[in-house]
Amino acid sequence: MTPGLDFGGRRVLVVGDARPARRVLAQYLAVGAEVFHLGGPLPERGRAGNAEHAGAAGRAGNAEHAGHAAQTPIVHVHTVQPPRSPTAWSDLVSAVELVVLVEATAQTDALITAACLRHRTWLTREPAAETSAMGSVTLVGGGPGSAGLLTVAAMDALRRADVVFYDRLGPSDLLEKWAPGAELVDVGKAPGHHARPQREIERMLVAAALRGDTVVRLKGGDPFVFGRGGEEVIACREAGVAVTVIPGVTSAIAVPAAAGIPVTHRGVSRLFTVISGHTPIGDRDLTHLIGLGGTIVVLMGISTLGQMLGGLSRLGMRADMPVAIIERGFADDQRTTICSLDRADEMMRTTGVRSPAVVVIGDVVTLAARGDEAADALLREAAQFALFE
Ligand code: SAH
Repeated sequence: MTPGLDFGGRRVLVVGDARPARRVLAQYLAVGAEVFHLGGPLPERGRAGNAEHAGAAGRAGNAEHAGHAAQTPIVHVHTVQPPRSPTAWSDLVSAVELVVLVEATAQTDALITAACLRHRTWLTREPAAETSAMGSVTLVGGGPGSAGLLTVAAMDALRRADVVFYDRLGPSDLLEKWAPGAELVDVGKAPGHHARPQREIERMLVAAALRGDTVVRLKGGDPFVFGRGGEEVIACREAGVAVTVIPGVTSAIAVPAAAGIPVTHRGVSRLFTVISGHTPIGDRDLTHLIGLGGTIVVLMGISTLGQMLGGLSRLGMRADMPVAIIERGFADDQRTTICSLDRADEMMRTTGVRSPAVVVIGDVVTLAARGDEAADALLREAAQFALFE
């Protein structure tokens, strides 16, 4: 589909059987076009989703209807009978403003092309959606939340998706634009507002692929960095579903960078360790981390932050070791707090840091301020902590 054009209320004729044309039909419905379809009947499975998908509108049970996304009204597709003469073709083409050819015999293609030329009706060709009985799953790393940090491969997978399973950590604001033909399913919260169990998400992915859908599982950052991507890959493989992974920009590196902190720096740190603070980090691990002498990056670390920083201090880490906490990386209200290890307690009490946040411990933190006079002055007051907003 040509981006940027306003198709609202425009009459669009889509030519091609329902299954290969399903994505194109859904895309034009999604942008408000009046869609005419010439081909076989629409597939039995409606684009409006089914009861398994939270909040999805029910199937209309009528081959002439298709909805494009969960919780949107079911929209009509006008089914058109194949014209029986060149004149009838000409009449049909003159009645619409755009013809989208997905699949047609050479003869039909020639008739349509001639009629479009005659009536100055726009003609475009779009690729057929895969029609294999078995769908596929693509795990897509969505980056740390900024649209600009979505990869080209991620955008491409979203564009081709029939259904996108997303949650709060992925970049989801613009999903309707990036995946215009897809049903969007929020798996972050179950209907009762509690977190949906991981196994249930895996079952949903597999079920959609087995129905024939091209499935995207959009995840925050990189799917394999504390994203449970590995479990989803195994679940697909065990069910015999083809699965691929598109890596993403991980918050472990990108969020420090958003605050001006390089995780490695020549002469300062030649290694970085990424660790989950989801459950408390034990003394043995903390001792090892101190011994490595490189940068420590903690994800999901806010609820155990006091315990971890206290432990590092008790186990011998330098009192003036710089610590940075970057909250809501890439959001408008991103906030960076910097302090030395011995002031961490006071800092936490005063600033009320909240998740999501990335914690960086190591000398690289001071580089955030290098060259920035105001920040540098704050950092030099070793007993103080600094806030950048
Ligand atoms: N797979 C993800 C990480 C998932 S764990 C990745 O590669 O980035 C979730 C944790 O990631 C959060 O608790 C937080 O520590 C971190 N995180 C993700 N996005 C973030 C953001 N925009 N700002 C700050 N922290 C973020």
